[in-house]
Amino acid sequence: MNDLSMSGVATFDAERVRQDFPILNQEVNGNPLVYLDNAATTQKPDAVIQAIVDYYRTDNSNVHRGAHTLADRATEKFEAARLKVASYVNAGEARQIIWTRGTSEGINLVASSWGRTHLKQGDRVLVSAMEHHSNIVPWQMVALEVGATVEAIPVDETGTLDLDALASMLDERVKMVACGHVSNALGTINPVEQIIGMAHASGALCLIDGAQAISHFDVDVQALDCDFYVFSAHKLFGPTGLGVLYGKLDLLHAMPPYQGGGEMIETVSFAGTTYNQLPYKFEAGTPHIAGVIGFGAAIDYLQQLDRRGAQAHEQALLAYAEKRAQETPGVQLIGTSASKTSVLSFLLEGTHPQDVGMLLDQQGVAVRTGNHCAQPIMDQFGIPGTIRASFAFYNTLSDVDRLFEALAKARQFLV
Ligand code: PLP
Repeated sequence: MNDLSMSGVATFDAERVRQDFPILNQEVNGNPLVYLDNAATTQKPDAVIQAIVDYYRTDNSNVHRGAHTLADRATEKFEAARLKVASYVNAGEARQIIWTRGTSEGINLVASSWGRTHLKQGDRVLVSAMEHHSNIVPWQMVALEVGATVEAIPVDETGTLDLDALASMLDERVKMVACGHVSNALGTINPVEQIIGMAHASGALCLIDGAQAISHFDVDVQALDCDFYVFSAHKLFGPTGLGVLYGKLDLLHAMPPYQGGGEMIETVSFAGTTYNQLPYKFEAGTPHIAGVIGFGAAIDYLQQLDRRGAQAHEQALLAYAEKRAQETPGVQLIGTSASKTSVLSFLLEGTHPQDVGMLLDQQGVAVRTGNHCAQPIMDQFGIPGTIRASFAFYNTLSDVDRLFEALAKARQFLV
């Protein structure tokens, strides 16, 4: 098909891997589905779907409290998944893995629990100008309460974070630097190791939003030395409604609970309540047991995959898509940083992204259009939004070809 199919891609059999994802094998609007909305959510392999079905068919029970066999089985699988995730991101201990509803809740938990305890009048929280709303608004909410400010680290016209500007912004009033590992709107990979080092040198903590990074490359939270790392299961081939907060032990120990309820307590009386130990202190109520078990299966699935090959394949898809974009009249790429994951954000001259998205969908090509919950960076570029094609390892070069064929037709129709 092209030179790229001979490099990197050759070692990874995407055609075989996509057979593991039943949803991909269907027609949409009379055309074979081309799913290019992986930054919004990834599809689930059979192994994940089966694990959830098996749980409900054979083990369904509440965790941690049962004195019967089903409850023991459910608890065992639930805690085994925590261990798998801990090992996947190289956390020192499983109790550093807190189950949340997703990236958004993880950030809300830290902003609320750590933020309300530690942020004071005049303190500053730095976030990048390309953050998802999830890593802006929770900080604004707590900042408003305590009289702190939330400020944006500038991003240049290619979508690259300005580290010199970050260096000049850091002072003793900065208590938290909260930054995305990868931008969902642009695909930029931020140099988080450097950012974490700079934050620490200045006495600030660092939270990394890994929602878009975790599916594309290996993350080692200890090597990064981040204080908090958050991500969503559904963007890592697992179920929706589940996420992970990793935190350093001393910080998690010192933080008050985020929500009250069952499971997060040690003893309750009207004279006073004591809280459970980690991680349960932060897991009030019945958790998403089926989701956690399904996520454990997603991690197992990923562990048996050739992940180096998958990464090379995704990079080849991006390079090919960028080449096709450059050859296509009227396409303007938004986000051209030197370091990117497989996200192609673009405009088609003379068209509105939403109209293009609709015409692509009619041809069976699923992309996302709009501001991608990253309004500030769209405002900086002076655009209402983009068309975003985001690739996973089960996409193929022919998916890229289908995207550009469909785009050509959309352009004919609209321009
Ligand atoms: N952060 C980033 C970078 C994202 O891309 C997303 C989702 O698109 C989120 C946070 C929010 O994730 P969730 O909706 O799973 O909480």
